[in-house]
Amino acid sequence: MRADRYLFVSDLHLDATAPEGIAQFIAFLDGEARTAAALYILGDLFETWVGDDDPETARGSVCAALRRYTASGVPCFVLRGNRDFLLGAGFEMRTGCKLLPDPVLLEHGPLRVFVTHGDPLCTADHSYQEFRSMVRNPDWQARYLRLPLETRRALAEAARRGSQAHTERQEEQIMDVHPDAVLEAFRVSGTTLMIHGHTHRPAVHTLQTDAGPAKRIVLGDWYGNGSYLVLYPDGQYEIIALPRPDAGAPRPDPLSALNPATGV
Ligand code: MN
Repeated sequence: MRADRYLFVSDLHLDATAPEGIAQFIAFLDGEARTAAALYILGDLFETWVGDDDPETARGSVCAALRRYTASGVPCFVLRGNRDFLLGAGFEMRTGCKLLPDPVLLEHGPLRVFVTHGDPLCTADHSYQEFRSMVRNPDWQARYLRLPLETRRALAEAARRGSQAHTERQEEQIMDVHPDAVLEAFRVSGTTLMIHGHTHRPAVHTLQTDAGPAKRIVLGDWYGNGSYLVLYPDGQYEIIALPRPDAGAPRPDPLSALNPATGV
């Protein structure tokens, strides 16, 4: 197995209500991910994250597995998603992972990759972008994190339901990345490869940019089955499916409900 493999996952949405997803991710960390040069988690690792001080055990088991993983010598980098945007320094200390800004430009030798959770590119969704600006504000976050855990959990659950309702209301196109935002990201970064998640619409898009032909790889979510992307230093890649035969009925995913075409 080649050691110069960079692995990417996104939108695992891990939560105590779906222990099989947590078990699969922990098996991935303890198993095949160990041979990677680095692991990148592109946001929404957790369905909710109400603060680094939350002692909840299901998320705690994921943090412990991440700690074992980074202690094994493989660096793990994490972007915040729209569900776990409160991941902070305490999470880094618990896991040994390193949080990255969003977007971020990865450079491994000749390989340059524009990486984002994906939500900053959904510029047609004005109400979401307003919400995002509010909750990414350090003052807002400091006020929220001073609330008792129970209050934070209740607010996060309300926000999750609000987000689902918003997703069901919005047109599919508005919920996707905006083509202009994608082109602008390619132009500003000077890259020809982009990787993101968030939309739960896994695909590899090719497009023409000022710098030539470019690829936008959209990672799938882990609601039903798992999957990850392997990227090699020469820009070659593979998408590996992680079937979950014992998953039972997959959890309802409000985004895929809107997008039967992808079957995800
Ligand atoms: Mn997301």
